[in-house]
Amino acid sequence: MNRLKYLLPFFLVLLLLGACSNSKNVDNNEEVKLKVVATNSILADMTKNIAKDKIDLHSIVPVGKDPHEYEPLPKDIRKIAEADLIVYNGINLETGGNAWFSKLMQNAQKKQNEDYFAASDGVKVIYLEGKDEAGKEDPHAWLSLENGMIYAKNIEKQLSRKDPNNQAFYKQNLDAYLAKLEQLDKEAKETFSKLPENKRVVTSEGCFKYFSEAYHIPSSYIWEINTEEEGTPGQIKGLVEQLRAHPIPALFIESSVSAKPMQTVSKDTGIPIYSQVFTDSVAEKGKSGDSYYAMMKWNLEKIAEGLAD
Ligand SMILES: [Zn+2]
Repeated sequence: MNRLKYLLPFFLVLLLLGACSNSKNVDNNEEVKLKVVATNSILADMTKNIAKDKIDLHSIVPVGKDPHEYEPLPKDIRKIAEADLIVYNGINLETGGNAWFSKLMQNAQKKQNEDYFAASDGVKVIYLEGKDEAGKEDPHAWLSLENGMIYAKNIEKQLSRKDPNNQAFYKQNLDAYLAKLEQLDKEAKETFSKLPENKRVVTSEGCFKYFSEAYHIPSSYIWEINTEEEGTPGQIKGLVEQLRAHPIPALFIESSVSAKPMQTVSKDTGIPIYSQVFTDSVAEKGKSGDSYYAMMKWNLEKIAEGLAD
C-alpha cells in the first residue's frame, strides 16, 4: 500500500505527459506530425484535402476576413515559429498593402521555398490595371479552377518534400481532389458558354479577372483591390455610369468586404444584388461554401443564375 502511495504521483505525471503529446503532434502510429501553417481559409482547405489528418494545420486569417491586410495575433506568430511548412498565396496578396506576411517571415527568419512557398507558383499572372497599381500582380488566381489545381499540385509537392513517408498518401488524395476540381471546371465552362452575351460579373473588389479569363465572362468592380480605398464616391460613380450605359440583371457582393458600397450602386442603378459570393475566404463551417470546392460551386451557380436572363 505504502509503495503504491509513492508511485501514484509518478503514474499521474506519466499519464499527463502522454495525454499532452498525443493531443498535440503525435498520431496513432506515434509519428510526429508535420506542422503546417496556411495564410487563409482557402489555402488551409486545399491543404486539408491533400494531407487530411497527417498534419497539424493552422490557418491564419479568420474565415470571412480580408487576407490582403491583416495583423497577425500572438498565436499566429507562435505557430509560424514552430511551423515545418508555411503555405501562402503570393502574387501580391499577403505581400501587398501592409505586407504582413513578408514581415512575419522576416521576423521568424524563414526561408522562401525551404520553410515557406507560394501556392500560386507557376500560374499565368494577370496584372492590375489601375494607374496606382500598374505593374502589380492581381492575387486572385484561385478563382479559376485550373489555377486551383496548380495550387493543389504545389501543396502536394511541398508536403511530400517535407514528409516523404506520407508521399503516397498525399499523392493519392491529390489525384482524387484534382478529379473533383476538374469536373467542376468542365461544368463551369459548359454553363458559361450558354450564358447570353453582354453579361458581366460585377463585384465590389475587382477580384474576378482570373475567373473572367477562365470562363469567358467579363467583370467590373467598384475598387480594383482591397489594399486601396474601398468604395469612394468617385469609384461608386464610375461603376454606376458604366452600368447605366451597359445594364446587367444582377450585382454580387463578396462575403469578406462591406456590403455598403454595393448597396449604394444597387440603389443608384436599380439593379438588385442577387447573391453573396465567396472570393477571399471560404464560408463559415457548416454553411454553403465552406470549402474551396463548395465556394467555387456556389459562385458558379449563383453567377449563372443571376445573369441568366
Ligand atoms: Zn481580394
